[in-house]
Amino acid sequence: MKIFKQSPELLSWVNELKKKGKKIGFVPTMGALHEGHLSLINHSLLKGEICIVSIFINPTQFNNKADFVKYPRPVEEDIKLLEGVGCHCLYLPSEEDIYPSEINTTLTYEIGYLENILEGEHRPGHFKGVVQIVGILLQNVQPDFLYLGAKDYQQCMVIQELVLREKIPVTIEKLPIKRESSGLAMSSRNMRLSTESLVKAPLIYKALARLKLNLKAGNINELKKEEEHFLNQNGFRTDYVEIADATTLRLVSNWDGEQSLVALVAANLGDVRLIDNLVLS
Ligand code: AMP
Repeated sequence: MKIFKQSPELLSWVNELKKKGKKIGFVPTMGALHEGHLSLINHSLLKGEICIVSIFINPTQFNNKADFVKYPRPVEEDIKLLEGVGCHCLYLPSEEDIYPSEINTTLTYEIGYLENILEGEHRPGHFKGVVQIVGILLQNVQPDFLYLGAKDYQQCMVIQELVLREKIPVTIEKLPIKRESSGLAMSSRNMRLSTESLVKAPLIYKALARLKLNLKAGNINELKKEEEHFLNQNGFRTDYVEIADATTLRLVSNWDGEQSLVALVAANLGDVRLIDNLVLS
């Protein structure tokens, strides 16, 4: 597997491959890789593409400094996992490669509604950082396909918006959430859960599944409140339990029985913040 730490070297390698007619698939990550990440990589490999994975823990998307400091960084294990699945290339940039000092890193991009609800509301500035890093990574890698996990539902929408508005020539594919057999959505943050929290964490999926099961046309606020109460009774500190339109992410209180909906949860167990979602209809 090729490992590039500098974008110019990476880009000249990419350009050579493109000249030979190869398609480039790209999976941006923050490392601490698990089956969820590998499912995205395998999808690209099965399509016969040259698969590039990036690992970069982007400081500008962390509104909470402690979360950034504690984010797991098992790079050697990650490299072994990537080699094991036959990934072609790891882009492992330094902060200087991503944010050279002569570039104005305060440049921002207005995302609008999506920036200020749910994750945006609870992690101020988060999506500005996401848009900034994804914009830079797409410039540095110039892939044909960008693979994103539905685990970060709102993030997928924000990145789709960025690509559309900036006319970035890349095709986005959103792939399903990989879960443990308990239902817990796989996440790099799960490795920071205590033994006790690991037992509780699957209750998030239980709450989501019950929202889907109990969904009926009419007012759905009570349904949300019940599941939020259930999680808080079980030791979570919920940031939100919400139901929204699956395509616009506008919050929904009254369901007409037809609109496509997604339920989204963000909840803290100790100092670990978990997010998950489930399309309901
Ligand atoms: P992260 O390293 O958490 O920034 O995630 C990198 C990419 O992997 C993002 O597109 C995530 O949505 C995706 N991802 C993370 N967890 C999962 C999962 N459990 N299933 C599918 N994709 C995932």
